[in-house]
Amino acid sequence: MAIKTIKLKKGKEDSLLRFHPWVFSGAVESAPTDIEEGDIVKVVSNDNRFIGVGHFQIGSIVVRILSFEDTSIDLTFFEERLSAAYDLRKTLNLIRHDNNAFRLVHGEGDFLPGLIVDVYGNTAVVQAHSPGMHFARNTIAQALVGLNDAGIKNVYYKSETTLPFKAQLDPQNDYIVGGYETNIAIENGLKFQVDWLKGQKTGFFVDQRDNRSLLEHYAKGRSVLNMFCYTGGFSFYAMRGGANLVHSVDSSAKAIALTKANVELNFPGDSRHEAYAEDAFKFLNTIDNKYDLIILDPPAFAKHRSAIKNALIGYRKLNAKAFEKIRPGGILFTFSCSQAINKEQFRLAVFSAAAMSKRKVRILHQLTQPADHPINIYHPEGEYLKGLILYVE
Ligand code: SAH
Repeated sequence: MAIKTIKLKKGKEDSLLRFHPWVFSGAVESAPTDIEEGDIVKVVSNDNRFIGVGHFQIGSIVVRILSFEDTSIDLTFFEERLSAAYDLRKTLNLIRHDNNAFRLVHGEGDFLPGLIVDVYGNTAVVQAHSPGMHFARNTIAQALVGLNDAGIKNVYYKSETTLPFKAQLDPQNDYIVGGYETNIAIENGLKFQVDWLKGQKTGFFVDQRDNRSLLEHYAKGRSVLNMFCYTGGFSFYAMRGGANLVHSVDSSAKAIALTKANVELNFPGDSRHEAYAEDAFKFLNTIDNKYDLIILDPPAFAKHRSAIKNALIGYRKLNAKAFEKIRPGGILFTFSCSQAINKEQFRLAVFSAAAMSKRKVRILHQLTQPADHPINIYHPEGEYLKGLILYVE
């Protein structure tokens, strides 16, 4: 079957020639009438020059380019891309006896737009964000299992919430290969249970690994509040770092149950830790002068560009509460994972919050996502995690 071809309007190939991997709907001059969601398509310029091959999708981004070379998108293609991604993680020294949790594929950052793969021991959790990747899921699973010395035995597909609803693909979260073995993974020597069946994202936020390590170095002798703790990632690093006490807060009771289980797994019977299923703002209102290290890692306040204004107000309010309540000499770890909000906007929101509190505040570190969430330099949209470590007098 001949590959379907999308022709661009005149001049609309410029960003693609600079390797930006998205074709927007406004750039398309013509597309075959029988084109369908998830089709592999060839993109050509108005004068019929080859531009790339990619996955077609209905929406504002109509093609996600998989290759700027005229290549087949088949098992060999996925094997090569996954193998390159795995080699990079090896280079990053993330595959060790005391670390078996990492992101193997970060969409555009690994030249596989629409695909996320997180690895927990010998289980890979695959998320498709595009119909094309959904249709390729079995091929991807086959390539994952065959991957060098990775030892991946189980592939869990988890795309019920990440695929475009309108595409009506009706994906089922399920194992494509293998099945349940264990859900305990290891990050920097700390153990944690990953709930890929029911948990958020792929079950754990691997993207905070480096920032959690940094926290460990600041925790000694401090009273730590881990706000929006999810399954407790920051909490057990704080405990290993020698915190006096660690309180974990999340509005989800399920997250709190997992946090407790994870702390118990690493520090059985340790009375320094307590966890509360409560709303962040409510909790912060009650904590006068109790903590000298606070972590704020809320969910994305802006999921779309339209929500930016309200999200910035949200970040300002939340951080203002922390500045109001943190002890003098305190350290605040504050984050935003909203892709729609850039570094400067986030910093401005935190600046406004600091100004409201009238406290002396200094930036100690500026944080971002770790190296297994690489940013394709031609696709700056891939940068999403922002954080500041602040010293509050
Ligand atoms: N810091 C975590 C990830 C945080 S994800 C880690 O390192 O793994 C964001 C968390 O915020 C989710 O677990 C969600 O349940 C929680 N959350 C969302 N709204 C909240 C609110 N209003 N109050 C408290 N927690 C909230």
